[in-house]
Amino acid sequence: MGIGWQNTTCEEISKVFSGGFTITAAVQAFMSTPYIMKHGSEYLKENYLKPAITGEKIGCIGITEPGAGSDAANIQTRAIKEGDYYIVNGSKTFITNGIYGQFVILVCKTNPEAGAAGVSLLVLDLDAEGVSKNKLKKLGWHASDTAELHFDNVKVPVKNLLGEEGKGFYYLMGGLQLERLSAGIMGYASCEAMLEYSLKYMNERSAFGRTINKFQVLRHRVAQLAAEIESIKIFTLQTCKMHEEGKYVVKECSMVKLLATELADKCMYQCLQFFGGYGYMEEYKVARAFRDSRIGTIGGGSSEIMREIIAKMVIDDIGYERAESNVDGQPSTVDSQPLTVDKIFATLPARFKTEKAVGKNLNLEFRFDSSTYYVLIKDGNLEIQSTDDRRPSTVDCLVETDDATYIAVETGKLNPQEAFMTGKIKVSDLMQMMAFGALFKKL
Ligand SMILES: Cc1cc2nc3c(=O)[nH]c(=O)nc-3n(C[C@H](O)[C@H](O)[C@H](O)COP(=O)(O)OP(=O)(O)OC[C@H]3O[C@@H](n4cnc5c(N)ncnc54)[C@H](O)[C@@H]3O)c2cc1C
Repeated sequence: MGIGWQNTTCEEISKVFSGGFTITAAVQAFMSTPYIMKHGSEYLKENYLKPAITGEKIGCIGITEPGAGSDAANIQTRAIKEGDYYIVNGSKTFITNGIYGQFVILVCKTNPEAGAAGVSLLVLDLDAEGVSKNKLKKLGWHASDTAELHFDNVKVPVKNLLGEEGKGFYYLMGGLQLERLSAGIMGYASCEAMLEYSLKYMNERSAFGRTINKFQVLRHRVAQLAAEIESIKIFTLQTCKMHEEGKYVVKECSMVKLLATELADKCMYQCLQFFGGYGYMEEYKVARAFRDSRIGTIGGGSSEIMREIIAKMVIDDIGYERAESNVDGQPSTVDSQPLTVDKIFATLPARFKTEKAVGKNLNLEFRFDSSTYYVLIKDGNLEIQSTDDRRPSTVDCLVETDDATYIAVETGKLNPQEAFMTGKIKVSDLMQMMAFGALFKKL
């Protein structure tokens, strides 16, 4: 699902000078119901999506827990299958629409031992027995309800599972791109509205015999804000277009979220200054906007997490893109079909990015059903071994999978993230694996 025509809706609801109102609608349209539209059965669409569209049911997304915010993979809420039901136990916190909403897209572990591959999404009715709620008091977004939710042996019918069991984390990674784009639109659109509101005030307010829009220092601040808002708007809309075309634009979505929310925070702070003491008064909209913008750089992936994602992609060459073979149009380094694991490993030296490996030391063990390989990078040099007597004394990362899965990943037929998150590939240290992958060109 792209953001397409919804840009206009998201833009308009962001210009009402109430972040609380905006987020209530945005969670419904961009952050919770898209999971049902993309992965839900006909039953779930009929019973949750349709009433959500007509406004009869309000949804929310439950990812964050008291002990797992940025580190979402560490969630502890469990849903254990018993007959026709999942029995849910655990807690979520900071859940927008959690008090007045009717259902939550619950991110939970259906297989707690399987790491990311054990995460699933359930549609859970918020009036079910065993659900308790606590309304949280906040600095801003007063028009939005934010809940702490507790689940005590809540029975959720198995038919309320979204998509397939164990693919929840994978679905979430896709859905978060749309969430970040909507945060970008909310960011620049709220700035546009606030700048217009401020300019009107600056044209009316006088000091030292002139309207304050004549003071050069304030004019320059307005000019700077206008330039930044315009450029981030264009970048956001361009990224929306790429997303709508089906491109997996993780880097750009992270940049949009980072830049637009940081700008909104700065813009509201500076605009409040234009109003002097009146800006601090509740009767002026800028006071509320100043409070409301503060959450932008925290919720839905903080600025620090956005920078982490961007840094991994820009500095370490780690890709989050969909698997596609030969995307750069380079001829394959494999001679002919059918491929085998041995043939793929024989291409590693030719695909090794020596310039990226300078000074690096990394030992990986690959266990397949047909063979085992040790790939050793010592001071930036590559060595490949396939006999147990050459096993290094320390292995930084163990990768276990079957031949077919590995070949499908290498040839772009299977998304590596999906393979990892659904347990088809087991990796003992994901970061080491990603760092390793970044040292080789695509097959
Ligand atoms: C008003 C509001 C509404 C929300 N709505 C929802 C909702 O509807 N659904 C939902 O699931 N969640 C929601 N959230 C939760 C929100 O997404 C989290 O607050 C956010 O992801 C940060 O998690 P945390 O608060 O646990 O902070 P932590 O993860 O504890 O982070 C604390 C600080 O450490 C930094 N940090 C963490 N890890 C790193 C790292 N690796 N490198 C550098 N810095 C790091 C963070 O950036 C932050 O500055 C909401 C939050 C608020 C306040």
